[in-house]
Amino acid sequence: MMIRPKHAVVIGAGFGGLALAIRLQAGGYQTTLLEKRDKPGGRAYVYEDQGFVFDAGPTVITDPSALEELFTLGGKRMQDYVELLPVAPFYRLCWEDAPAFDYVNDQEMLDRQIQARNLADVEGYQQFLAYSRAVFEEGYVKLGAVPFLSFRDMVQAGPQLAKLQAWRSVYSMVSKFIQDEHLRQAFSFHSLLVGGNPFETSSIYTLIHALERQWGVWFPRGGTGALVQGMVKLFEDLGGKLELNASVSRIEVSNGRVNEVEVADGRRFKLDALASNADVVHTYGQLLGHHPRGASKARSLRRKRFSMSLFVIYFGLNKIPENLQHHTVCFGPRYRELINEIFKAPTLADDFSLYLHAPCVTDPSLAPPGCSAHYVLAPVPHLGNAPIDWEVEGPRYRDRIFEYLEQHYIPGLRANLVTSRFFTPLDFRDELNAHLGSAFSLEPILRQSAWFRPHNRDAELANLYLVGAGTHPGAGVPGVVGSAKATAGLMLEQLSR
Ligand SMILES: Cc1cc2nc3c(=O)[nH]c(=O)nc-3n(C[C@H](O)[C@H](O)[C@H](O)COP(=O)(O)OP(=O)(O)OC[C@H]3O[C@@H](n4cnc5c(N)ncnc54)[C@H](O)[C@@H]3O)c2cc1C
Repeated sequence: MMIRPKHAVVIGAGFGGLALAIRLQAGGYQTTLLEKRDKPGGRAYVYEDQGFVFDAGPTVITDPSALEELFTLGGKRMQDYVELLPVAPFYRLCWEDAPAFDYVNDQEMLDRQIQARNLADVEGYQQFLAYSRAVFEEGYVKLGAVPFLSFRDMVQAGPQLAKLQAWRSVYSMVSKFIQDEHLRQAFSFHSLLVGGNPFETSSIYTLIHALERQWGVWFPRGGTGALVQGMVKLFEDLGGKLELNASVSRIEVSNGRVNEVEVADGRRFKLDALASNADVVHTYGQLLGHHPRGASKARSLRRKRFSMSLFVIYFGLNKIPENLQHHTVCFGPRYRELINEIFKAPTLADDFSLYLHAPCVTDPSLAPPGCSAHYVLAPVPHLGNAPIDWEVEGPRYRDRIFEYLEQHYIPGLRANLVTSRFFTPLDFRDELNAHLGSAFSLEPILRQSAWFRPHNRDAELANLYLVGAGTHPGAGVPGVVGSAKATAGLMLEQLSR
């Protein structure tokens, strides 16, 4: 008699959902990945227009070994699917009132730039790096892919977290070692990349600095979308099935277990185990809201703090701007005040800090010859804090940002514009089902991290799992790929029972 393989369904083909689906398929589940949109990738969607290719989201790829692991466990070689190109400098950091700082992986060059600002900070930086490496070992290498299911796991990690003073904020820890205000900004802004306010997020997130120094910053040839495509191909080569335009509308429960999902077009998929990569509030509140477990969990999740949103403009130019690096962080005139307003204020600030993406610096194939593809993003409040009508504000905000870029970074931008589109908090909410239009799900503060974050396995419905930014360890590509490892471990354990 043939034994039917167990069937796993993963809702959502973001990086977390894809990485999990690959692990499940390689581990013995017959896996179906259901994605609402017409392309996979989630926040790493791709827009294409007139020969320009725009990665919608992640562009700073770190920890390539975590990605490589997915190909290896599928018995394949990553280089047969996607090529990662090194990016140097990692970022160029720019201020209106100070010279630019090239954040590179070359210690001598770093020291020279630090020394030019403040001699004492050369030594301070070494101490900061040592601290950041210690947190990286503890928080990423040891605990990054461990599911925190019981409070005991948290208690066990407690002493080490206390020793590393994890209750302090990123900015406060950086300031302990570094005096110069611009350098403090240069080494504390990283937590924003995973939705954390550097003035409130745990200093554990300084580990991102060590992670970048350890394994570098990379960019896939063909854009982040090429990495997504490589992962999809790997999943399909292993026998997995990806269904696009498959928006799950309901999760069915019977006898304390989930057993079926329904897609908006009426299709139903029976399953032995289910993981959701969709937003956690959407999963519990919408998909499972008809069941007491879903309704109560959604109520408690809505009381949590959520990360800020983003306003992103994708634009193509018929020229290649001079002097741009691949990644530029454009600090505005205010740092602490602006960030606090982004996380808490009920309105949009008059000033902004921006991240400017110029991928053609690394891979010119993303635009027609002589042209360049870009995106620029501004962190903005989520819809719960600032219920801005982005239908009205969006075009205005775009024009303000373009004007600023023309003044400071890309002269003649609008005269050379071939194509542009923007993505607002309303799109995060409506396109990605993100609660309050948050770009990074639950805010990564200490009391919403590890055991305090929604768990990788639901506490009541034994075969329901979560993966992605809303669960442990959190947002960012390495974070959600780590969450997939944690969740897969639990699901494969269920398979072997
Ligand atoms: C503009 C931007 C820039 C970023 N830059 C970086 C960076 O440079 N480096 C980095 O490491 N991180 C970056 N991040 C963060 C990183 O992109 C995210 O944390 C990560 O990609 C989230 O992955 P995820 O697995 O949680 O899934 P998501 O990408 O959130 O995907 C979830 C998927 O679920 C689907 N879905 C939702 N509801 C349903 C449903 N009912 N049925 C079926 N499917 C559904 C959605 O359509 C989506 O495809 C950035 C984020 C943004 C927005």
